[in-house]
Amino acid sequence: MPKINTKYHRHAWEGYETATDDKGTWSQDSGMVKFYKSKPWRKLRQFILSREPLCRSCKKQGKYVSATVVDHIKPIRLGGDRMSEDNLQPLCRSCHNSKTAKESNETNTSGSRRRLKR
Ligand SMILES: [Zn+2]
Repeated sequence: MPKINTKYHRHAWEGYETATDDKGTWSQDSGMVKFYKSKPWRKLRQFILSREPLCRSCKKQGKYVSATVVDHIKPIRLGGDRMSEDNLQPLCRSCHNSKTAKESNETNTSGSRRRLKR
């Protein structure tokens, strides 16, 4: 097995949209890098976006914004199904970022202080 330097490896496919939401999370979880690169995922992602090209979260607020990210409703690291359509939703970049930020807030504090309700 050749050793793969994930840092360098990443650059080869950085144009790939789902992969660009990195805040250093990739190095923690190189298994996810593999997953987001995999053909089945890319196919599924394309399928989701072609079926529902608008950001679901914005749409709820009456806004029509094109989705650029396919999000796992229940994060994979929390046991969400990574290939299930039911667990996927199209989001725009900004909704995805705020969802991810919120999630990492919740998981980092391990439920001890949740006060993200508005
Ligand atoms: Zn949105």
